[in-house]
Order: sequence, then structure tokens, then C-alpha cells
Amino acid sequence: MKSNKQKWIFCPCCEGSGKMENPAFANGFTSSEWHDMHEEEQQRYLAGEYDVDCGDCNGSGKVQVPNIEAMTFAEKRQLVIVQREAREAARADAIEAAEWRRENGWGYGC
Ligand SMILES: [Zn+2]
Repeated sequence: MKSNKQKWIFCPCCEGSGKMENPAFANGFTSSEWHDMHEEEQQRYLAGEYDVDCGDCNGSGKVQVPNIEAMTFAEKRQLVIVQREAREAARADAIEAAEWRRENGWGYGC
């Protein structure tokens, strides 16, 4: 049975492209590193050939989100509980990740 309780939106991480810059390049290049690269490599990089599938949407460019308008009151209440739990879990993860980055001297990614 087809459910309309979920809807698809463009993935906010890659904005629907399904691709993201290879995390290995997330910090960019220093100009000397860029100069050391072969011109062919520079072209490939600029053409996005080193891009990888977006992790949030697995390269599909879209993610499924709950369709609030199609939900009953009980379903909305259940959703709020689930989202609250997810938010708390995400916050704990974010704190952990921020601490890890601080310790390792990393910047922020996607
Ligand atoms: Zn994505």
C-alpha cells in the first residue's frame, strides 16, 4: 500500500545533487599543494570527478521526511516523541563529535 505519510524533499546536505566533495578534500588545498598537482588532476578535481555519493541521501539527492499534513493527531504526537529522542541523541553525538574535533584539531565539515 502506498503511504502518503512520508514525502520526499531535496537532500539539504548536497542540495539534491546526490554528490558531495570527497571528505578527503574537505579542508581544501594549500596553494603549494595545488601547484604540485598535475594539471590533469586539477581539471578532474574542478570537474567534480573526485566527488563521492552524499552520505545523507546515499547519492539519491533526496531524503524522505514525515508528511505532517497527512498525519493524524496520534501520529503527530508519536512523531514528536521520536523527533525529541532523535534530537537528544543527535545533541549527544554532536557534543561528542565537537570534543573529538577539538582534540584532533579538525574543522567543521558538511
Ligand atoms: Zn545528499
